[in-house]
Amino acid sequence: MTLPAGTQTENPTAAEESGPSFNELGLDPRVLATIERLGYETPSPIQAQTIPLLASGRDVVGLAQTGTGKTAAFALPALTRMAQAYDEGELGSTPNTLVLAPTRELAIQVAEAFSTYAAEVPGVSVLPIYGGAPYGPQLAGLRRGANVVVGTPGRVIDHMSKGSLDLSEIKHLILDEADEMLRMGFAEEVDKILAQTPAEKQVALFSATMPRAIRRISEDYLTDPVEVSVKTKTTTGANIRQRFVFIKHHAKPEALVRIMETEPHDAAIVFVRTRSATEDVAAKLSARGFRAAAINGDIPQNLREKTVEQLKDGRIDVLVATDVAARGLDVERISHVFNYDIPLDTESYVHRIGRTGRAGRSGEAVLFVTPREKRMLRNIEKATRQQVEQMSLPTVADVNASRLEKFSERITETLSGEDLEEYRGLVSRYVQEHNTPAEDVAAALVAMVHDGRPLLMDEAGDDELARQAAQSFDRTDRDGREDRGGRGERGPRGKSGPPTADAGNAIYKIAVGKKDGVNPGHIVGAITGEANLRGNQVGSINIYPTFSLVELPESLSPQQLDALSSARVGGRPLRIERDSGPHGTRRFDDGGRRGARKGPRKGGFGGEGGPGKRDRKAHWKDR
Ligand code: AMP
Repeated sequence: MTLPAGTQTENPTAAEESGPSFNELGLDPRVLATIERLGYETPSPIQAQTIPLLASGRDVVGLAQTGTGKTAAFALPALTRMAQAYDEGELGSTPNTLVLAPTRELAIQVAEAFSTYAAEVPGVSVLPIYGGAPYGPQLAGLRRGANVVVGTPGRVIDHMSKGSLDLSEIKHLILDEADEMLRMGFAEEVDKILAQTPAEKQVALFSATMPRAIRRISEDYLTDPVEVSVKTKTTTGANIRQRFVFIKHHAKPEALVRIMETEPHDAAIVFVRTRSATEDVAAKLSARGFRAAAINGDIPQNLREKTVEQLKDGRIDVLVATDVAARGLDVERISHVFNYDIPLDTESYVHRIGRTGRAGRSGEAVLFVTPREKRMLRNIEKATRQQVEQMSLPTVADVNASRLEKFSERITETLSGEDLEEYRGLVSRYVQEHNTPAEDVAAALVAMVHDGRPLLMDEAGDDELARQAAQSFDRTDRDGREDRGGRGERGPRGKSGPPTADAGNAIYKIAVGKKDGVNPGHIVGAITGEANLRGNQVGSINIYPTFSLVELPESLSPQQLDALSSARVGGRPLRIERDSGPHGTRRFDDGGRRGARKGPRKGGFGGEGGPGKRDRKAHWKDR
């Protein structure tokens, strides 16, 4: 298909200009209420361009990658139309929206996001269906009724042929990461699914690239589509050094503090994605002794201006901000910009880092990249035509050395700068009256100043965080969700050995297993719902007959563990505990049900499994 002239749109908004607000995109008020609650301030470029088109019923081809906000770009307009159908009494429980995703992990992720966005829209229920997991719960879910189905193509076809998935009422069909689906050998399945859905439907196709095969799908199955893409050519100032840290999501606060403690800086701005994150990160920094404040779109303009004034005159040193709140910010003393949450588009990145290096000074830009965001980093490098260099995280020893140095400096400054006569008299009197060495008195005073908090971090343990961030970063590598267990399956690394955790994670045991009919989606749902964890903090999941092993951050708080212990899957409490491994050899005749096929499917595809394809040899030996 050649797109008709005039339908091709380029992103017109540089991040510096203000684009449309969510209120202007034609979304239902209930959908807007959720966006407000989530703290999203402004639509990302792909959202600003795609949502009005989809809301008005057009077919769309979106050139967009993961991490640009494309899930909301297709979910919010679909939900708007579903909300209207509900009001008119026309929203049934037969599938209305079908999202096809290349991997099981993406299907789970999209289903989670869709449910989140659907929170205020009545009558919507979302079901992920993917290969390598038992059919039972998926069949039960479909029987109960799910009007949004997010599935991998192979499993969708399986359900279609079993008669368990009715596509006769599909109104919205979304192809997510279409190029990836074709690359994985799903062309035939995608064709078959598209051909068997009603002709009268809206189709949105999202793809990072636009090879011929995608053009063909677009020609064959989309009606007069509008193609949208996000402009990527941008330049960054040469006086700004750009670095990134490769880090897991949960370790970001500690990483930020370590860098700020060890790297000489004047003022800093920390960019986060949501309003609540501005408050949260500012509070964490304040608790660690930084003079930090949050600014976001909810804070009245005059108060924001006051905060910026405080940053200018040095009463505070760190601003934690969303893109909207920091628009146009010009403060010369900003020496560091932290991209704590990676921006949703490359222009925001350029705008953000442009807050430093003002007035001819040099500046430092530090970007946090989680395993899932590798691709976004590559986009940034491509768009800015600059390589962002990897930085290692300061170790505990580095932090302590810096604290000791600052401690000495403070003493030296106080000794030289203040009139200490009166205090000296007090100390001498104490030394004489109590017959105590002056060093002991000084030590007691230090303890008083620190108010029970240790001056130094504990150096005894293994410095996992620094070790992890120092791991070499393979730029050719795919995104994190595809790094493990083949094609995005949640599975252990290795074939049949005991599950092992990534650095910073631990293996936890939960008291539900195959006999309870659970699948990884249920477990991820329960864990993220109860413990305030994100889906990407849940690592590998191994389902055994009577229990399951789940990889989670090792730093779960007692409150999170409590919440998880009483969380339920299929009516049974998880009773979570750190896994210490079996005593003696434990053998399972059906092996760990990893939800991952072992052998390749046609075309080398390994992301889906048929029923009964289990690894019968897997066993897990004593550790
Ligand atoms: P996606 O590309 O859909 O996977 O989205 C990437 C991340 O950005 C997800 O964590 C979303 O929750 C978040 N997100 C999407 N849209 C926005 C927005 N307009 N403002 C802030 N965060 C967003």
